[in-house]
Amino acid sequence: KQARLDEVRQFLPEWLEQSRQEAAFGEVASYIPELSKARRDALGIHLLDLSGNSASAGDCDTTFTLQSISKVFTLILALMDNGEEAVFGRVGMEPTGDNFNSMLKLELVRPGIPFNPLINAGAITVSSMIKGSSPEEKSARILEFFRRLAGGSELQVNEAVYRSEYETGNLNRSISYFLVENGVLDGGVENVLSVYFRHCSIEATCRDLARMALVLAGDGTDPVSGEELIPRRYVQIAKTFMITCGMYNASGEFAIKAGLPAKSGVSGGILTFVPGALGIGVVGPALNAKGNSSAGVHLLERLSQRMDWSLF
Ligand code: GLN
Repeated sequence: KQARLDEVRQFLPEWLEQSRQEAAFGEVASYIPELSKARRDALGIHLLDLSGNSASAGDCDTTFTLQSISKVFTLILALMDNGEEAVFGRVGMEPTGDNFNSMLKLELVRPGIPFNPLINAGAITVSSMIKGSSPEEKSARILEFFRRLAGGSELQVNEAVYRSEYETGNLNRSISYFLVENGVLDGGVENVLSVYFRHCSIEATCRDLARMALVLAGDGTDPVSGEELIPRRYVQIAKTFMITCGMYNASGEFAIKAGLPAKSGVSGGILTFVPGALGIGVVGPALNAKGNSSAGVHLLERLSQRMDWSLF
């Protein structure tokens, strides 16, 4: 697959404005009160290829919190910390077809074990497996890892979003207590949740997302420094989850229409990439019925079709 960003640049500004109209069909998430402050019709995209060329359009300086996008990278760090066998002893590998915060299937397969690491139940379990002697140390290791993947960008936790989610996160608390009861989680629920809410509240721009995605596009090697930041096998695992579960219960549709590994978050961010070619970051806070950025999905599907980027 070819990035061909010179071609992308020719139509990107116009296509971005057309996709921006899709925000009218979406809603900004408000279950975390602080997120409702986002501008609903913001839309930005940044693309970065392996040789360092970039293209961007729209609201690229808009900052937003990673939310569920962070789950891809905490999974990778947990794999690097514990290995495959330990991680998959506690979370499964199957998509659910349910909402990201659903408790429905927690009782079904191998009782009590979350279906996959990208739904909340699985991601909270994964957060509990990050090495560190205290929640603070775990959070610091996560932040440092994310900064390295973002090419040394000074990513920070948005404390207002963190507090807002901490104060209202009763569904995530319920999921966590259920996991403790089933012996999946150990350690205090509040400690685990503080690590989880903190990595969800790390703030970035679509340029940072594109930079992190670029490392995945390079199979774990940073194309700028040439350094291996993630073992290739763990990128392969993350990539597979992104295809099968990355866009929640719209992952099948996105695989058909865009055909790219992707991960979305409730703040309206989407991180995606074309393996071996480029990293892409998008933000558009108004979400469609499945919880993905309405304008962002529209733009990415169109772009991938036009550029023939689908893996399939
Ligand atoms: N922090 C959010 C939550 O747990 C992440 C969810 C998301 O982005 N889908 O609800």
